[in-house]
Amino acid sequence: MTIGVARFVVVAGVSGHVVEMHADLGHGLPSVTVIGDELLAESRDRVRAAIANSGEQWPDARLVVASSVPVTGGGGGHDVALAVAVLAASGAIPAQTDSGTVFIGGLCLDGRLQGERAILPAVLAARENHYRSIVVPEPALAQLGLVEGIDIVGAADLRAVLGWLRQQQPLPGPDRAEFEYPPPATDLANLVGRPYAKWALEVAAAGGHHLAIVGRPGSGKTLLAQCLPGILPPLTDTQALDVAAIASAAGDLGRHSASRMPPLVTPHHSTSTAAMLGGGSRAVLPGVVSRAHHGVLFLDEVTELSSRVREALRVPLDEGRVRIGRLGSTVSYPARFQLIVAASVCPCSAVHEGDCVCSPQARLRYLSRFAEPWTDLLDIWVDLSPKVSQLDTAVGETSVVVRGRVAAARAAAAQRWQEHGCLINADVPADVLRQQFRLAPSILAPIQTAVRTGRLSARGADRVLRLAWTLCDLRAGATPNEQDIDDALMLRQRPPLSHR
Ligand SMILES: [Zn+2]
Repeated sequence: MTIGVARFVVVAGVSGHVVEMHADLGHGLPSVTVIGDELLAESRDRVRAAIANSGEQWPDARLVVASSVPVTGGGGGHDVALAVAVLAASGAIPAQTDSGTVFIGGLCLDGRLQGERAILPAVLAARENHYRSIVVPEPALAQLGLVEGIDIVGAADLRAVLGWLRQQQPLPGPDRAEFEYPPPATDLANLVGRPYAKWALEVAAAGGHHLAIVGRPGSGKTLLAQCLPGILPPLTDTQALDVAAIASAAGDLGRHSASRMPPLVTPHHSTSTAAMLGGGSRAVLPGVVSRAHHGVLFLDEVTELSSRVREALRVPLDEGRVRIGRLGSTVSYPARFQLIVAASVCPCSAVHEGDCVCSPQARLRYLSRFAEPWTDLLDIWVDLSPKVSQLDTAVGETSVVVRGRVAAARAAAAQRWQEHGCLINADVPADVLRQQFRLAPSILAPIQTAVRTGRLSARGADRVLRLAWTLCDLRAGATPNEQDIDDALMLRQRPPLSHR
């Protein structure tokens, strides 16, 4: 009996593990037995046709094929690995047992390699497990120019793979790519006036704080939200690859190299829970929250969002990831993002204050109904309802200038919290804030007053403290002072807001 082995990658979410495909060739009447799941059985006939159409011989003997774990869960495909294992067993190609090569790809009946979804996570998994080389469908090469540390080659069809294994022909690798860092899609300098809102956005960026924006239609809520990615620090190599891996798992990485610009995702308010968190029938695809990983999730018209979706968002907001159960297993995707929610100031959504037909009571009811469920999730509230003054036409700072201050503040915060397991002020655990970094009683007095009079909850008090640390970092201070606490209390004030 001879055994052929070839390795492929099973991908779940954005993590993959390398799996062995075995083909055992024995004496007896010609037959094929598949041990394992339906997907492997399905590929048997496809691979058999692909082998025949590549001018190769399917072994005329008793054949047993099995993979070391079930191939369900999707990924780059296991057909090529099955073909290689079978042909290695029959001696048609060199044995792959110790080759250090991983094979990714499905096969068409005519022998062409196919499949581009989740190839990047598969390649990263092979690299992580110290495999020397990986064969992928040729079209996927365009997505892999950023990956270093593993030899990547692309094959158009099975014939090319076999020629390469027999050392008869080379296979092309990806063109080296660079991380892109485009200028901000929306620059802060394009926002006329609104110094308070711009300052609040800078604070949100510096501390990673979630933000709420209220304002009439056309008051610039979307414009303000669109400015956030451009004032956040650029993504690191690892973060940019994380974002690209999620796009690859969704099947739409396309031909672009990864970007250092943090993503901005703006789902419609009618988006379902499944679309928000992720899911799917055959493969579990990442949801909206994971597409916003390392970036910004902007929920406009948030009062229209169903309470189910709103409650579902609490899991990624708390844990930075989502778990999607399917067929007895769980797929996990990272989902750590900065949240911006926006809503109108009143139920009639009139563009001009003068056209509003809402009673003061109706407005109050609307604002508190909007604010109540979000209060314990959001740090900063911005009111854009006062009109921009005609005199206030000064051109403000560009996003690049503000980004510089944000980066400096984030660096200070990261240095302080590193040993406590977090990098941004918004993530600091309450006990670290209250005990190890406790501020002087005189500084804390306004917060305690707010808690005593019921204007602030205990959790709200922690949020004010985190904000105060961000304000302190932005002015390059050592510890928050009275002014930082006052400003933090002001930023935290939720509607109905004072008209500034
Ligand atoms: Zn109204």
